[in-house]
Amino acid sequence: MLSNFTTGVVMKYGGSSVANPKKINEVADRIVERKKKFKNIVVVVSAMGKTTNNLISMSKEINENPSKREMDMLLSTGEQVTISLLAMALASKGEEVISLTGWQAGIKTFGHHMKSKIGDIDKNKIENYLEEGNIVIVAGFQGVNEVGDITTLGRGGSDTSAVALAAKLNFSCEIYTDVKGIYTVDPRLFSKARKLDYLSYEETLEMANLGAKVIEPRSVELAWKYKVPLYIALNTNDVVGTVIRGEGNNMEKNSITNISVIDNILLVNIELKTKNTEKINNIFVQLGNKNVNIDIISQNKFSDNNYLISFTTTNDNKIIVSEILKEMNLNFNFIENVSKVSIIGNAMRTQAGVASRVFEILSKNNIEFHQVSTSEISISYVIDDFNVKNIVEILAKEYNL
Ligand code: ADP
Ligand code: ASP
Ligand code: MG
Repeated sequence: MLSNFTTGVVMKYGGSSVANPKKINEVADRIVERKKKFKNIVVVVSAMGKTTNNLISMSKEINENPSKREMDMLLSTGEQVTISLLAMALASKGEEVISLTGWQAGIKTFGHHMKSKIGDIDKNKIENYLEEGNIVIVAGFQGVNEVGDITTLGRGGSDTSAVALAAKLNFSCEIYTDVKGIYTVDPRLFSKARKLDYLSYEETLEMANLGAKVIEPRSVELAWKYKVPLYIALNTNDVVGTVIRGEGNNMEKNSITNISVIDNILLVNIELKTKNTEKINNIFVQLGNKNVNIDIISQNKFSDNNYLISFTTTNDNKIIVSEILKEMNLNFNFIENVSKVSIIGNAMRTQAGVASRVFEILSKNNIEFHQVSTSEISISYVIDDFNVKNIVEILAKEYNL
């Protein structure tokens, strides 16, 4: 726990922690406990359980391609249900409490609907309510843009709401979830994974970007930028979680601190018979225009007049990518059911031979990979889904994770 760092705390509870009224009541009990220590408590909550997914499915039954503004209108309702129920639970336990939607809480957003960013927070209202002795509950994942429309922050965005509020109020931030903290590997993928007591902001950000969905990447970026003390723990708050702070303390000892996986990846291969840089450029311009996010890109000269361009994106872009490439008369194929497995560790900067060791492990175990990419502190491999569990276990054992 991060007590005594700051004058207040933002406690964030994700969907699984508030999935039903009983759980909401339990969360209320824990907030009451925390209130004994902190005068100033802001709580950020997500929509209950799978509410956001259910709202998305419902919209699809009505319209295959709804406007993003209307999607924001719809999706923001999920969090609003939770804030009111939690406020009722706390009131029934004798607490002074008020719930606020994102816009009531002064969260100002900009950018595209469904992936808006927080521009600023007008904190006066929250501070006044805190001053009056209230626990302030804020709906995560939402805000209001410059033209007064409700916007949402992208999936998992309540983490970002929580950290942004903590940064603005100069509070610490506690993210409560359904696991005991950040593990060396997603505990659902590798049951022997170890919980980490400390991580640096940088390593946490790399893990989050590479698929460790326990915390949303933008929230880590914000926490790093504003030096918000961050703590990730089980929603029961009775076991020690993971503290995120400037420097990791075990980074030099172990070259690899984490393995992360992103599933649902689409690998796109395009064959070009001439090296036409304008055409190549045009492919990426067209994809960009349609908001298709590209991840790993590679270009190989196979032989004279024979080039292969490959890139990865998420599977939900399949239809749009196919349309764009067909329109451009390109010869392409898709490889589906692949995942990106990444190994991450700050000490990779200084230790040579990590990549070659992984290649050796993959080859020894007969595991084929489709693409590989590296950053300063990570190496990622695109491999078939059916190999994921196996390779994660092998690598976790190899690196003592
Ligand atoms: P919340 O609803 O609280 O926001 P999420 O489902 O978004 O929770 O994130 C928690 C999940 O993240 C865990 O249940 C776990 O399966 C997954 N996860 C992925 N990678 C990791 C990791 N390295 N450490 C812990 N949990 C992880
Ligand atoms: N309810 C939103 C989602 O499911 C935001 C969040 O949970 O952080 O993505
Ligand atoms: Mg989450």
